Amino acid sequence: MAVTHPILPVKAPIAIPSTSFLPENPKTLILKKCKTLKELNGIHAHLIKTCLFLKPKVVENLLESAALLLPTSMDYALSIFRQIGEPDSPAYNIMIRGFTLKKSPHEAILLFKQMHENSVQPDEFTFPCVLKACSRLQALTEGEQIHALIMKCGFGSHGFVKNTLIHMYANCGEADVARRVFDEMSERDVRTWNSMFAGYTKIGCWEEVVKLFHEMLRLDFRFDEVTLVSVLTACGRSADLELGEWINRYIEEKGLKGNPTLTTALVDMYAKCGQVDAARQLFDQMAQRDVVAWSAMISGYSQASRCREALDLFHGMQKANVDPNEITMVSVLSSCAVLGALETGKWVHFFIKKRRMKLTVTLGTALMDFYAKCGSVESSIEVFEEMPVKNVLSWTVLIQGLASNGRGKRALEFFYLMLEKNVEPNDVTFIGVLSACSHAGLVEEGRNLFVSMSRDFGIEPRIEHYGCMVDILGRAGLIEEAYQFIKTMPVQPNAIIWRTLLASCKVHKNVEIGEEALKQIVMLEPTHSGDYILLSNIYASVCRWEDALQVRGRMKEKGIKKTPGCSLIELDGVIHEFFAEDNVHSESEEIYNAIEDMMKQIKSAGYVPNTAEARLDAEEDDKESSVSHHSEKLAIAFGLVKSPPGATIRITKNLRVCTDCHNATKVVSKVFNREIVVRDRTRFHHFKEGSCSCNDYW
Ligand code: ZN
Ligand code: ZN
Repeated sequence: MAVTHPILPVKAPIAIPSTSFLPENPKTLILKKCKTLKELNGIHAHLIKTCLFLKPKVVENLLESAALLLPTSMDYALSIFRQIGEPDSPAYNIMIRGFTLKKSPHEAILLFKQMHENSVQPDEFTFPCVLKACSRLQALTEGEQIHALIMKCGFGSHGFVKNTLIHMYANCGEADVARRVFDEMSERDVRTWNSMFAGYTKIGCWEEVVKLFHEMLRLDFRFDEVTLVSVLTACGRSADLELGEWINRYIEEKGLKGNPTLTTALVDMYAKCGQVDAARQLFDQMAQRDVVAWSAMISGYSQASRCREALDLFHGMQKANVDPNEITMVSVLSSCAVLGALETGKWVHFFIKKRRMKLTVTLGTALMDFYAKCGSVESSIEVFEEMPVKNVLSWTVLIQGLASNGRGKRALEFFYLMLEKNVEPNDVTFIGVLSACSHAGLVEEGRNLFVSMSRDFGIEPRIEHYGCMVDILGRAGLIEEAYQFIKTMPVQPNAIIWRTLLASCKVHKNVEIGEEALKQIVMLEPTHSGDYILLSNIYASVCRWEDALQVRGRMKEKGIKKTPGCSLIELDGVIHEFFAEDNVHSESEEIYNAIEDMMKQIKSAGYVPNTAEARLDAEEDDKESSVSHHSEKLAIAFGLVKSPPGATIRITKNLRVCTDCHNATKVVSKVFNREIVVRDRTRFHHFKEGSCSCNDYW
């Protein structure tokens, strides 16, 4: 610890006035003259030469410069400190403050102990300094000892000391003790209150912040801008829009809108309360925005599922040259995952690598989830393997990602590896595991895992787990068994379960149980067009056209409109949107030419348009052209023209892929030698060399 710093000889690099230059209190002068280490050295040497160094006041000023004002390490300050024969409490205080300021709180506490051992009496300034160090280190035991000492030394009623005491306890997670100190205080100033607010904020007791603020208002106590920032944060987290708006009005009335920290807190509050447009209005009015403001706004959009706006804003942030932080990146990645915006998400990954940022569990898991949802399973696994720390959520995201991308067996391998590594799976992990069994067609394994879940892991199956079992059985063609399973399961089946069964009925052409499934769905919830279309497609697949049309008729009678199909494709970071029979897209003519060319080529390779489903959809004569203008075909044709040969084409679709598009895409992947990844409403289809990862089951 004893660092000896060589005292430089006087080179008089700066003009130092004659000996008489130092007045009784030379502080201002020393501080003014010591702006660099070199200048400090000069003064130091001068003081020694003129014996002024022996004056405690003078040496303290020098110490203050070295410890607190110069951005250097504490070594030099320590060398001065060591030269003082018997340092008094002000000298110790400066050193303790310096160590805490320069991120060596441990040394600060050690020095305080030394001070105590040397019987130097601490004063009112000593305690706040060393308590701050305890706060930084979350050193509760030391903090408590110092608290006892404060009482012994008679500083127990000292407001400033108590404020730091509150801060220390709160920072160590002892909000209750902090509150006791707060309650015992007879005189509180606004900083006392703010320390208490900060304490509750630190441990996420948002309701307590709000309650305490109401008390503050009741007592008619003056609060300041620091208070408002804490309370606004709490309003956002506890969705207390009413109080948040009250504060907004207060800020407006007092003309505090110019304070960027306050406005950022307002933006954050509105965004977290789901009032994204109100947040945006404030955000747009801000003269300058830091990363916190951008992040608040972007995560607001992302949480409101307004993903395109989230990404647009993120591109704006990039243009404004503001570096994203972890919160921004997690929000951006989750929006990219929803939209299938691979390029933008990749940029975030690249940024993390370039900056050598720590791949935290939160960030890493968000990145994995994003890659898996964009169909890049390998990248997802890579990120997983690079993550230094993984938790159950990371494993679960990996397993689910593999399962939904049709890699059921690989997902199970990771599940067993997870067990080997003694990571306890949770209920969500089992949803992933069971859907992996379903995708891989592993009926027996699925049954066993379903039993093992409650028997070995104590997880009671939820409706989602039953749904997975129905999917496993239905997918394997065990429709009757799946139906019996639903009828005997101990929880009330919901519409999703029946819909799962209905989808299996479509693949395995089971009319009776399909009819029953739709009947159940209709009773349970307002149906959507997809349900009717599935049943009518079941009829169509067994050539019962009358029934098929009748189901469509029923759907129309009930006023249920078909959700228009929409496909997204991202090229060079821009997302293009296609609707069936789209002619709004700016490159319309080019796309229609492309699609005609594409259809011609796949037809000569053996593709036959399946108009059975289209026949039901279209009332116009030209059924074939209608089915060839489904949104995903338009998007694929666009992708073929706009991306370099061999590049993977990635499409995100809002509905289930229809049989005809599925067939066509298989042939496209072969004829054009392209991998095509289509994410539809429920799963991924990886088309490659004429076949699909879903094995034609979806
Ligand atoms: Zn289609
Ligand atoms: Zn498929």
